[in-house]
Formats: sequence, C-alpha cells, structure tokens
Amino acid sequence: MTDRGQAVGASDRRSVGEVTPRWHRVVLKLSGEAFASSSSDDTIDAHTVERIAAEIAEASSELGVEVSVMIGGGNIWRGQTGAGEGMDRATSDTMGMLGTVINALALQDALERLGQPTRVMSAIAMSEVCEPYIRRRAVRHLEKGRVVVFAAGMGRPFFTTDTPAALRAAEIEAEIVMKGTHSGVDGVYSADPRMDPAATRYDEVSFMDVVAKDLRVMDLTAITFCKDNNLPILVFDVMTSGNIRSALLGEKIGTLIQ
Ligand code: UDP
Repeated sequence: MTDRGQAVGASDRRSVGEVTPRWHRVVLKLSGEAFASSSSDDTIDAHTVERIAAEIAEASSELGVEVSVMIGGGNIWRGQTGAGEGMDRATSDTMGMLGTVINALALQDALERLGQPTRVMSAIAMSEVCEPYIRRRAVRHLEKGRVVVFAAGMGRPFFTTDTPAALRAAEIEAEIVMKGTHSGVDGVYSADPRMDPAATRYDEVSFMDVVAKDLRVMDLTAITFCKDNNLPILVFDVMTSGNIRSALLGEKIGTLIQ
C-alpha cells in the first residue's frame, strides 16, 4: 500500500476538493462504546467501526484534514469497574488502557482496508504491535496524510482518555478536540436531556460555564487543560452518518466550547 500524500505537503492537501474545512488538524476523541453493537453483545461491531472509519478516511483524503484519533476502551474495560469490585485501581486502569489498544487496532484495520494509511501510536510500549508515541513522529505522519490513532491514553493510571485527548491535541498543535458522543446526546445541554425534557442544547458555551454549571461533558481535568491551553472542544454526535464531515466543515452541529 502506498502512502497517499507522501510527496504532498500538508498545505497542498488542504486545497484538495471543492470545500474548505474549518479545522485542519484535529484530535477526534472516540469512546470505545461507540464501537460496541447496539443490537448484540458484540464488543466491537465491525459495521460500526467501518462506518466511522469511512468518515475518517474521507476527512483525510477528500477534505485534506490531518486527523488523529484518541480511542477509548469503555466497551472492553473501565478502570473504575474493577476498582469498584476491590481491584487495585492502577492495575484495573492498566487493563483499561490495554482495551484501548484493541480498539485502536480494529480502527486501523478498518481504515487500511479502505486504503487509508494509518499508524497506531501507543503510550505503553508494545513494539511488536504498534509504534510508541513520539510527538514529532506523530506530526510527521499527519503531514504525510496518515491517520494517527493514539492508543493507551496517556500510559498512566487514574485518567480516562479525555485528558490524553486534550494533551495530545496540545502537543501536536491540533486546532480542536472533537469529542464524539454515542449515547444520543448530541451536544452540551443545560441539564441531562434524557432526564429533563426541558433541557436545551447550547450552540456555544464557555469553559467557565461548563465548570461553573457542572455540565458533564468531559473529565474536568480535560476541560481545565483545554481552557488553559486555548483549545476549543466540539461536542457532537458521532453516531449520525456524515457528522464528522459536517463538524470539520464548521457546520452548526453539536456544541462548541471555547
Ligand atoms: N485509562 C487510563 N489512563 C489513560 C487512559 C485510559 O488508566 O490515560 C484507562 C481507564 O481505566 C479508563 C479506561 O482506560 O477507564 C478506558 O478509557 P475510557 O474510560 O476513557 O474509555 P471510553 O469511555 O472513552 O470508552
């Protein structure tokens, strides 16, 4: 497989196609639950992964956006689940991080079957399986038109993948963290819309309001990190077909936190 874009600079790739994306380098935070099947017990639903992969590949090849993905592992294991049952928290979190590697490989497989060159970069060394995360190398992959999938979060327990998504975004100088939701909630609401039918969705909301009103969007650590580093967050429904493209083009979907 040849690496499309290898001889083409990032700025050239941005002019590909007739539309101009609003965002040019992004970190897409995908929850592992987004990969699970809604209709069966499958931990990873191949059709769902393929659909999301197709949208990511399109963003890279047609829109010329440099896409990286921080993939979660909640469909396989969450550290808090084990800790709640008496396991050592650090061990349980490590199991969760290994779950993210499984999801990362599933996404890489789906992307490469579509002809989209992809690199998995893990925060936990596993050289037989994927590359280690090296910041400058990640940037180079993106410049060459490869999708980069960040696995194993930050490589440290006591975090979820929200904060590493924000951290990687700052490190690689991404313009935005795109947080894809999967639970039917398509943005940030004044209250939980599943509990309160009067809840309204914000088109835009400030970091201060997210914190002050305790709007549950991402981990608070991730929110404050993004605030301190001027990194906007777009919260949007990644399960609706076409939404990744719409989000990258700057169409009015979801909620922009800035
Ligand atoms: N995790 C961790 N450190 C990290 C990232 C993840 O310990 O830097 C563990 C943590 O136990 C977490 C699990 O990996 O619960 C899976 O990640 P996450 O909960 O973010 O998955 P998601 O909810 O996005 O599917």
